[in-house]
Order: sequence, then C-alpha cells, then structure tokens
Amino acid sequence: MKIFEALANTPDRRDIRDAIRSICDRFDDSYWAEKDRTHTFPFEFATAIAEGGWLGIAMPEEYGGAGLGVTEASIMMQEIGRSAGVFAACSAIHINIFGLHSIVRHGTERQKQDWLPDIISGKSRACFGVTEPDAGLDTSKIKTRAVRDGDHYVVRGQKIWTSTAQQADKVVLLARTTPVEDCAKPTDGLSLFYADLDLSTVEIREIPKMGRHAVNSNQVFYDGLVIPASCRIGEEGKGFRYILDSLNPERILNAAEAIGIGRRALEKAVAYAGERVVFGRKIGQNQSIQHPLAENWSELYAADLMTLHAAELYDAGEPCGAQANAAKYLAADAGFKACDRAIRTHGGMGYAAEYHVERYFREMMAIQLAPVSREMILCHIAERELGLPKSY
Ligand SMILES: Cc1cc2nc3c(=O)[nH]c(=O)nc-3n(C[C@H](O)[C@H](O)[C@H](O)COP(=O)(O)OP(=O)(O)OC[C@H]3O[C@@H](n4cnc5c(N)ncnc54)[C@H](O)[C@@H]3O)c2cc1C
Repeated sequence: MKIFEALANTPDRRDIRDAIRSICDRFDDSYWAEKDRTHTFPFEFATAIAEGGWLGIAMPEEYGGAGLGVTEASIMMQEIGRSAGVFAACSAIHINIFGLHSIVRHGTERQKQDWLPDIISGKSRACFGVTEPDAGLDTSKIKTRAVRDGDHYVVRGQKIWTSTAQQADKVVLLARTTPVEDCAKPTDGLSLFYADLDLSTVEIREIPKMGRHAVNSNQVFYDGLVIPASCRIGEEGKGFRYILDSLNPERILNAAEAIGIGRRALEKAVAYAGERVVFGRKIGQNQSIQHPLAENWSELYAADLMTLHAAELYDAGEPCGAQANAAKYLAADAGFKACDRAIRTHGGMGYAAEYHVERYFREMMAIQLAPVSREMILCHIAERELGLPKSY
C-alpha cells in the first residue's frame, strides 16, 4: 500500500519517524491486546520511549529536552498512533509531550529546573485535572476550590476523567481561587497548579469505560490537598488563559494521533481485503470493498496535510486556531471512519478480538469526544472564521 506521510516531509523528520517506529515495533498487537484485556498500564512501552529520550521532544534543551517543534512532536505521535498500541500508546505518554507547556511558558526558572527534567526523563508522571462532572466543556463552571491559607492553598472538589491518575505522582490542576461572583469574567479567578498527588487527601476511582483499558481514566476526589503557593503556575486567577495557550498544539497532536490510528486500521483492512477469498475471489476485488478504503485513504491524507499546515504555522509563531481545530475535526472523523470500515472489511472477524480492529475502533471513539468535541470545534470555526454569532 502506498503510504502518505505529509508530516514526515524532510530527511530529519523521516529519521524521527523511523526511530519511533523501531521502538513501537517491539510492542505488537498481542502485547497491547493483553494490556487492554487486563487493564494494565504499559510501563514497558512508556519506559522505552523515555529511555530513547523522546519525552522531551518539544521541551527546551536547557532542561534536557530536544527543543523541537510541534511538527516533530506530531510526527512522533502519529507514528505511535499507527503502532499496535493505537490510542492507549499515545495516552500513556501524551501529557509529557505538551501537557506541561504552561510551565514552560509561565513557570519560574526554579519551577522549570525542579519539574521539567523529571518529566522529560520519565522519572515523574503527571496527569491533567481539568474536567469536572457538573461543568463539562464549560470550564469556567468548575467548582473545585483552592483556598489560600498563608503560604499554601487547600484544595477541595472533584474532577472526572483524569487519565493516568493511578500512575501519576503529579497533577496539573485547574481550580477556582476567586469565587465567580467576584470576577469580571467567569474565566477569571481560576488558577493552575502543579501539585503532588498526595493520596492521603486525594481519592482516585477508576471509571469503567468503552476502551483504551490499558490507560485508566478516573474520578478524583480532593479533600484538603495542601499545595504550597510555590507550586502555582504563573499568576493567581489566570489559569484559564494559561490552559488556552496550549490548546492549539494539543489539537494538532490529537489530530496526528487520530491519523496514525486511522492509517493502522486502513493498513489492516487492505491486508485482509487482499487475502480473504469469498465467492471464489478476493474480497478486495469488489468495488464495494475497495471504494470505502480508497475514501479512507483520501480523507486521512487530507487530514494529514491540514495537520502539517497547522503544525508549521504554530512552529512559525503564526496564528493557527482555525487550522488546528479543523485538523483535529478532520483527523478524528477520518480516523473514526477508517476504524469503522476496517471492522466492516473484516466482516464477522472484525468483531472478534483476534483481529484487533475492534480494539482500534473502541479507542478511536474517544478522540471524537475529547479533549474537545466535534460540536465545539464547529462552534469555534463558525464564530471565529465565519463571523456567525457565538452559540454557547
Ligand atoms: C478517554 C477520555 C480521557 C479523558 N482524559 C481527560 C484528562 O486526562 N483530563 C481531563 O481533565 N479531562 C479528560 N477527559 C474529559 C474530556 O476532556 C471531556 O469529556 C470533554 O471535554 C467533553 O466534556 P463532557 O464529557 O463533560 O461533555 P459535555 O460538556 O457534557 O457535552 C456533552 C455533549 O454536548 C455537546 N455540547 C455541549 N454544549 C454544547 C453547545 N453549546 N453546542 C453544541 N454542542 C454542545 C458536546 O459537544 C458533547 O457532544 C477525558 C475524556 C475521555 C472520554
């Protein structure tokens, strides 16, 4: 099958792809199926990526990173998405890649020296605590409170969907420090922290879910977590703005992951279509099998080009909100359709765990829902690019 790789469009970028591919190839479908079946975190894979020095791909060199851009990080995440680990593999390390961007941009020198090297080496694991049950996509409505008491804050509240909380020793936590009624805007008064996940005041409960079982998502209850004021990132009350800073690279990386997963599903479907014989001929000889796969290829390629465009704009310091959102939208849809079609191409065997495409499908679904939904992306583009009234 002819592959497209818009992102890996220079020799240096192809070197990154090849190096990541050789690590990923050590962890095959049976490794990931077992992790999924037993709900076990893929430590071996995460360690292999860390030992290769890849967690710091987009982190500043002075703290041990490679200082490369979101384009290079996207190549890496697309390749990990294309591996047998699909979204679970991406999620096991995703936060290390750009999740601490707010510290890079707004942290003090001391904070960067204290925190970034451990994340880059893989010694420390962080999770991301933003979503709350009663706020949903309207982040300004979060209720978790961080109340200042001398030189520290005390946190009480509940987060939901915090992924990898069971392995993390740190949390990037968004909490309200000023009651919303005392703020000029609802998005004011939120502060961002990088805190120890102290299990004496934090309770973690896994959420049973559809897929990506190798990487847990959790309800997290904060009941008096003490955070030193020195662990607040940037100014008090500006946490929402700091989160917004990293939204575009986050969208671009999600897009790259979705394209990778879609490519893997497509490759499996093409292989099966080329070997399965029914009615005396290969099923891939039938146009009704071929055309949807050709459609998947076209859509994934287009999404890859959009992702490359968004990534290069971001790395050049240009505005890229619309492109990053459109890339995420197109890639998540293209990846989802490719996973769906991979199951159909396999017929009944697509539903069997043995062929793995049902696992890819279950994992791919999450990228359409999170961290931002299709609907909210379209709302954003309608408002910002088309000039239509804000609808939310
Ligand atoms: C596998 C997985 C991992 C996750 N990991 C993390 C994590 O590590 N940390 C974290 O903080 N969060 C995490 N999340 C949470 C994720 O970011 C949220 O689920 C997502 O932001 C959507 O929020 P919600 O589920 O509350 O949906 P809701 O806000 O309840 O929305 C429900 C539906 O209504 C639609 N909708 C709502 N309002 C509007 C509107 N005005 N116009 C049009 N449509 C609208 C939405 O698009 C969506 O389809 C994870 C989620 C999943 C599924």
